[in-house]
Amino acid sequence: MGKDLNIPDLKTIFAKQMESTFFPVSLDNMGAQFSFHLENTDKHSYSTGKTGRLLTNRHNHPGGAYGYRLEVGGKVFVYCTDLEHGECLNEKVIEFAKEADLLIYEAQYTPEELPKFRGWGHSSWEQAIEVAKLAGVKKLYLTNHDPEHNDEFLQKEERKCQERFQNCYFAREGDENLI
Ligand SMILES: [Zn+2]
Repeated sequence: MGKDLNIPDLKTIFAKQMESTFFPVSLDNMGAQFSFHLENTDKHSYSTGKTGRLLTNRHNHPGGAYGYRLEVGGKVFVYCTDLEHGECLNEKVIEFAKEADLLIYEAQYTPEELPKFRGWGHSSWEQAIEVAKLAGVKKLYLTNHDPEHNDEFLQKEERKCQERFQNCYFAREGDENLI
């Protein structure tokens, strides 16, 4: 989460949305150990201990959004959603995804739909595949699907994607162990 939002305390934001009114498990009961960093424009790299680092990249999206690149144990995992390119693909995004073992990327729109949604802050699956190819990504997972697209439609689009990038899948509920 970025500094565009006027928030004093990041932990409160996460805790708030996990209150019992909205979610059955509170933040304190989560199994992981959390440390909260509010992204700022001066710092884009965080150490994750001896073995890895976490990089961030600011996205073009209304209200702000960030991509995350986790390098740990010799593997690279990149997460990019809520991201709109301009007329051309954003070079910074390609660089950020370089050689990722797994890229989770948003594909809210089809290539045909994208021009109708300029300024909404999202990408097409075609752009996702272009980024993955140019960045030399090994495996591509597409997510952030438009709520207007049903399962049948998405399965058809997934097959189109796999014709262009073999190791490409649409994310499904329950998916795990992706690398
Ligand atoms: Zn969005």
